[in-house]
Amino acid sequence: MAKANKPNKRTCGRGSRSCRRCGRHGALILKYELMICRQCFREVAKELGFRKYE
Ligand SMILES: [Zn+2]
Repeated sequence: MAKANKPNKRTCGRGSRSCRRCGRHGALILKYELMICRQCFREVAKELGFRKYE
């Protein structure tokens, strides 16, 4: 049993779905593997090049 240096990889799973940008739960955008909430997505979308999101 290797118990040292366990990779702290929590991308998706039960109870780990929260915005990785602000940390809050809610309407998460799992699209594009963003794992962020809608509020953050609207901000990030500008950087990514998305013009509109509804
Ligand atoms: Zn967020």
